[in-house]
Amino acid sequence: MIAPQATETKHWSFHTDIENIGWLTINTPGASVNTLSREAIMELETLVARFEDLANSRELVGVVLLSSKDSGFIAGADVSEFDAMSDFSVLPEALRRTHALFSRIENLRIPFVAGIHGFCLGGGLELALACHYRIAVNDEKTRIGFPEVNLGIFPGFGGTGRSIRQAGPVDAMQIMLTGKMLRPGAARGMNLVDKLVRHRDMLRWEGRKAVLQNRKSTPAPFAKRMMAGPLLRDYVANKMREEVGKKANRVNFPAPYALIELFEQHGNDWQAMIRHEVDAFVPLMGSPTATNLRRVFFLSEGLKKQGVKGAKFSRVHIIGAGVMGGDIAAWCAYRGMIVTLQDLDMARIQPALDRAKKLFQKRYKKKREVDAAMLRLTSDPQGNGVSRADVIIEAVVEKLQVKQSIFSGLEDKIKPGAILATNTSSIELERIAEALKAPDRLIGLHFFNPVAQLPLVEVIKSKFNSDEAIGKGASFALAIGKSPVVVKSAPGFLVNRVLMPYMLGAVERVERGESKELLDAAAVAFGMPMGPIELMDTVGLDVGKSVATELGHAVPETSKFARLIAEGKLGRKSGEGFYKWEKGKAIRGSTPSHPDLLALGRELVKPLVDTTEVVVGEGVVANADLADIGVIMGTGFAPFLGGPLRARADGRA
Ligand code: NAD
Repeated sequence: MIAPQATETKHWSFHTDIENIGWLTINTPGASVNTLSREAIMELETLVARFEDLANSRELVGVVLLSSKDSGFIAGADVSEFDAMSDFSVLPEALRRTHALFSRIENLRIPFVAGIHGFCLGGGLELALACHYRIAVNDEKTRIGFPEVNLGIFPGFGGTGRSIRQAGPVDAMQIMLTGKMLRPGAARGMNLVDKLVRHRDMLRWEGRKAVLQNRKSTPAPFAKRMMAGPLLRDYVANKMREEVGKKANRVNFPAPYALIELFEQHGNDWQAMIRHEVDAFVPLMGSPTATNLRRVFFLSEGLKKQGVKGAKFSRVHIIGAGVMGGDIAAWCAYRGMIVTLQDLDMARIQPALDRAKKLFQKRYKKKREVDAAMLRLTSDPQGNGVSRADVIIEAVVEKLQVKQSIFSGLEDKIKPGAILATNTSSIELERIAEALKAPDRLIGLHFFNPVAQLPLVEVIKSKFNSDEAIGKGASFALAIGKSPVVVKSAPGFLVNRVLMPYMLGAVERVERGESKELLDAAAVAFGMPMGPIELMDTVGLDVGKSVATELGHAVPETSKFARLIAEGKLGRKSGEGFYKWEKGKAIRGSTPSHPDLLALGRELVKPLVDTTEVVVGEGVVANADLADIGVIMGTGFAPFLGGPLRARADGRA
């Protein structure tokens, strides 16, 4: 029976039970995750007014806030409203209204308890922090954090002050500055949640107890809060600036610096921090950086909508256990697939298994999870896994004949409907497919090195492939947590094609006597994650040369580049290339000064941007948006510029 005090709005449902406990549930209509849209906040205002009345008349003893979505609690504010909200005439008022609402929740005379499962992020965490007590499910799905910095802003619904109150300044600032998502145990350790339960269905019971016992969260202990006191605050702020400075500069990423300044001025008083949050927040929201980062966010969300309906994958067979095949196999097993890994003999497979174990140990907390993942990954020198696999990926040496002979031997053994894919980085798909009776079956799934770190998979479409086959390839990439971009089979595909002229251009300048340190510093000043010479060393000079040759860029035998290769100086992997390498780090000489590092950076990046335009013109990728997101994901191209083509349109590249 529905209790008399039941209310349904678009985003919330509320009822009271026989004990006068109020049960408030959020359920964002038509979406798989809950978000705090303006409409949801306005509806909550009306509900909170009712809670105040009911509390005064003692008809309500407390409220438990839950989510009805499987995906989790609340994923944040509604990012699709951010562009419109960037308007100076709208934003401050909207923020202050939400601040006032959250303060009213905090000031309710009855306990207000949040029951958290799954994602509790950004605005969702800010709402939870305004509650008196937080209970979270202690499982793999629960994630708690402030990802705002990835969108060029920081928490704007009072989360700056409240997280400092709960966790102390060092931990709170750390999670706001990095956007790191915490597991439930870590969030409990930081005092961001008060109680952990094992299952989602225990939230109600625990929530009820919290209300009836009037449980209230306690703020961070003095020893932690002391770090925001007058003696230490400047020191702490400077340390934070130093850390942030290693990753992002103030011009390109103003948000973390603005947050540190807010802390510097008001970090000792969490309420003052909240009061001044709006003024510091407003200029960030409409900044070019935030606008471009939102664009990147929507483009990458768009990639997730690709694929075909109903495609299911559980078994993957990988041929070639080298750098790429071994790491693709490990990644697939990590993402829950049952994987068989084939190479010429066991001795060539073992190193890949050892690397896989390291990956699992790094990513999983529990030994039993590592063991389970290792059980999912089996060495298979005979290729027995082929006939049962849903996906077969070839990653053997980059030689046409070897690849052709592998595929012609596979065709009669595979399951109907299984994906047959190559990880080739430069051979045209059509040439490999010629060896097949049904050449339309072969697609490209081009992963990037290191597989565990780079999110992009280029799904390569040959002239034989149907959209269905490519859609299935995209579905598989998504199933293993990667971001697929469909690219036509053409030399270098998208990423290598645009990278090569940029890297070779810089190599030529070094050959002419320019400083590699200066060129690398200029590219980093532009916003690349590393400079082109360091990148060439990282990729490997031999690999770089063979891709260059495949793309028609001649590398003269008399060049320093060719000489280094002849001397076995292949870059990072051999300990020396253009740079000497120690413990995975390039040893840099001094960097000569330059009057305009950014202009030099633009000059270096120009061939990359030019080539991206050409690639779109040739129809290698369907449109400029896909080219932008593909290049960002595949090369780390300055995301705050929104991608190479957006940067050019804005006159910034
Ligand atoms: P690699 O030399 O490290 O590994 C190739 C493996 O294939 C070796 O272990 C070899 O023993 C095995 N192999 C050779 N012939 C075989 C056969 N007939 N049956 C089974 N196994 C066989 O090479 P890699 O760097 O991993 O590259 C593999 C593929 O991935 C290539 O096509 C390459 O172009 C592509 N790729 C490489 C990178 C990269 O950065 N290395 C990036 C993307 C794509």
